[in-house]
Amino acid sequence: MIESEQAAVDVPRPTKQGTPAPPEVRGLLLDELSGVLAELGERPFRARQIMNWLWRKGATSFEAMTDLPAALRGRLAQALRLSPTTVRRKRRAADGTLKLLVGFPDGAAVESVVIPTGERVTLCLSSQVGCALGCVFCATGRMGLYRNLSAGEILGQLIEARAATAPAELTNYVFMGMGEPLANYAALSRSLAIMTAPWGLGISPRRITVSTVGLVPLMGRLLSEFAVNLAVSLHATTDELRGRLIPVNRRYPLAELLAACRDLPLERRRRITFEYVMLCGVNDRRAEAQRLAALLRPLRAKVNLIVFNSFAGAPFGASDAETTAVFQEILRQAKLTATVRQSRGADIAAACGQLWRPELTGGRPRREGADPRRPGGGASA
Ligand code: SAH
Ligand code: SF4
Repeated sequence: MIESEQAAVDVPRPTKQGTPAPPEVRGLLLDELSGVLAELGERPFRARQIMNWLWRKGATSFEAMTDLPAALRGRLAQALRLSPTTVRRKRRAADGTLKLLVGFPDGAAVESVVIPTGERVTLCLSSQVGCALGCVFCATGRMGLYRNLSAGEILGQLIEARAATAPAELTNYVFMGMGEPLANYAALSRSLAIMTAPWGLGISPRRITVSTVGLVPLMGRLLSEFAVNLAVSLHATTDELRGRLIPVNRRYPLAELLAACRDLPLERRRRITFEYVMLCGVNDRRAEAQRLAALLRPLRAKVNLIVFNSFAGAPFGASDAETTAVFQEILRQAKLTATVRQSRGADIAAACGQLWRPELTGGRPRREGADPRRPGGGASA
């Protein structure tokens, strides 16, 4: 089973005394919050009032919810937790990209990146501290999986990023930061439910993209539950090469992955984005562009060619601009939409696949079970 139910709700973590900490209110659905209020003997309409404070006004304490009776604010602060996220560091790159290091009470942290492009302001969210899948070109994969984020922690990044970006507004959201979102499905789906709910953040699912390495059984489930955009990290056109770059390809080989993509419940006029990181001399030849075009032709697909971002000890180099342009042209001649994703924030290591530093795990070693071939590795089967 791929799915980890571990982080379904903001699981109460034991306190020093061994009693469970109260649930994180940012991870609760409306009916769950109503249930908590009923237990406190409160009227149900309070739930919407609190949601409004959390998601519209970005309140970071119950104390700030000034139209609630003071006694209720006190009881809420005892029954629930709010805002266990803090921005530990903020860095802005020369191109305007803003990288936040968002920390949690257990010492773990993730990076969230705000990328302004013209009219758009895109937030790149992390879903896990590290990643179990070990793709060899990815810095996050190198660190292994430390732990899943809870829904409240995923959304905590959003609230912190929104506050750091104001008065500009976030317009698009991509799960392309640290971690494999579908390997933390329970927390991902809960956070998507809150992001898209009218009582929550009210974000159109069309403005949200989930990127996956290709965990086949969960791709269909995701699109049957949320009308979000799906991006699939392909990066190679043969199982031989993809298996070397992306170990989980051995579990879900190309034919199975592409067949699953063909059967996805896509809405009208929607297409799947295939990500393809351009690695010099590895996957960037003309023959590979032709094979990629042939593989994707039967699908409703577009291609995003990604400029490889290097990191210390990376075993690859980036393809040069000319090679990338030739590759793109071959795809275009095959009638595929193909764009090149320019590297953003590279001077502050905020670009894809560069999101890693030792302090992200609070200085502790990586968690057991980070081997993608073993059960419990977060995304293996
Ligand atoms: N785990 C998910 C989402 C996070 S990675 C996934 O793999 O799709 C987001 C994107 O960045 C993926 O397409 C991933 O392949 C790509 N990526 C990883 N390392 C990279 C690097 N060093 N340079 C450029 N892109 C990279
Ligand atoms: Fe994990 Fe995605 Fe990095 Fe692969 S590319 S190790 S799936 S974050």
